[in-house]
Amino acid sequence: MELTSLTLYEAQKLVRAKQVSSRELVDGLVESIEKIDPEIHGYLSYDRDQAIADAEKADPNLPLGGVPIAIKDLINVLGHPCGCASKILQGYVAPYDATVTARLRAAGAVPFGRANMDEFAMGSSTENSAFGPSKNPWDVTRTPGGSSGGAAAVVAADEAFAALGSDTGGSIRQPAALCGCVGLKPTYGRVSRFGLVAFASSLDQIGPLTKDVRDAALLMNAIAGADPCDSTSLAEPVPDFLAKLGLGVSGLKLGLPKEYFIDGLDPRVENAVRGAVDHLSNLGASIVEISLPHTEYALSTYYIIAPAEASANLARFDGVRYGFRAQGVSGLLDHYGRTREEGFGPEVKRRIILGTYVLSSGYYDAYYLRAQKVRTLIRQDFVNAFNQVDAIICPTSPTPAFKLGERTNDPLSMYLADIFTLAANMAGICGISIPCGFAQEDGKKLPVGLQILGRALDESTILQVASAYEQSTDWHKAKPGL
Ligand code: GLN
Repeated sequence: MELTSLTLYEAQKLVRAKQVSSRELVDGLVESIEKIDPEIHGYLSYDRDQAIADAEKADPNLPLGGVPIAIKDLINVLGHPCGCASKILQGYVAPYDATVTARLRAAGAVPFGRANMDEFAMGSSTENSAFGPSKNPWDVTRTPGGSSGGAAAVVAADEAFAALGSDTGGSIRQPAALCGCVGLKPTYGRVSRFGLVAFASSLDQIGPLTKDVRDAALLMNAIAGADPCDSTSLAEPVPDFLAKLGLGVSGLKLGLPKEYFIDGLDPRVENAVRGAVDHLSNLGASIVEISLPHTEYALSTYYIIAPAEASANLARFDGVRYGFRAQGVSGLLDHYGRTREEGFGPEVKRRIILGTYVLSSGYYDAYYLRAQKVRTLIRQDFVNAFNQVDAIICPTSPTPAFKLGERTNDPLSMYLADIFTLAANMAGICGISIPCGFAQEDGKKLPVGLQILGRALDESTILQVASAYEQSTDWHKAKPGL
């Protein structure tokens, strides 16, 4: 068995028992990356020497001791590039560790590599990366999803033991679904955003992409908890996220939202998800049909609120403070204009223009304010649902991985990739995607993801449901066979 096919937990166990060194894990990854990544392009860069230096210092007895963790290119790691897969941050090197990075280190992990992504996390396929798309390990003519597509791809392809991504509207869960790994979006405020480059500050959360549910819990144990550097982080007690794994689902009530089984849902995805629902029912959960009546407004509301916040957040990239700067300009305004024209890609510009428009006087009330009101209704839908059920189960993505290039000329069809994930961000609740089957296409197996949504701060229950499902199925063990 290849070292790199181990889970985070398994690799850590070997390091702890001194059967494998952290350095060997780094070298194993580098070897696998050299072999596989030219085809997958999951990493933008990595620094072997720095990783080895960190590996030598890592304490093998800590919970993540000695294990390298891949990091999406929008989370600061001191001394490493942090470019958000954008030209405008080319050459920018992080001057500090994000809180999650510091916490990974404190748990013994070795931050490793910069995972590819859609520019500034805007997208669902990694095709908006300024440095070329990542490919899906199950079929390299298809996208790994996005925006954390590089992170999902390297985990699925055994080029990483686990990774950290970010999720603003689905960017952890959707690529996890399309690549056949586990992706968890924590409750808003559960994990500090300090040192995460902001896209839409009221929606962004950092979370794990892993090979199984236990690894997701392990990473959550390391990164969760209040942080004085992020005033939106919650001062709530952090449970041991491993505690409810293995407890089973009997006695739990799971809600099946009728609005999530709609036209446009790929029948192969529907079959796999309905199969998973039956499976959970056989394991002892009771399945209840529920309604989330404002679901149909989630997409349009998200595409007002997220761009509005993005347009404000991205104002800071002016060519003075960070990274790229246009040459040969005539004066300050020309400098700003040309730097932003040359530095941002088309999707990022589209979001800035949309966001500026919906916030401008005259349109603010009609769009932004109204979207905020609808957001409250969406949130209330979930509050009502969680009065009836312990967790909600539904598809993660309406389709399996789509072809590279298939949706790049049609932003709306790209936006639809997140139709089932973005409501959780709007409501601030937590959600996880786990593998629940395959769709066959062109002689290839394409993973399907099951999404489990939970109450705010109740990651433990969705991990419990996810682990019960995972422990009695084999989907998560399948490998793309690169
Ligand atoms: N695909 C969505 C968007 O483009 C969500 C991205 C994300 O979660 N970062 O906004």
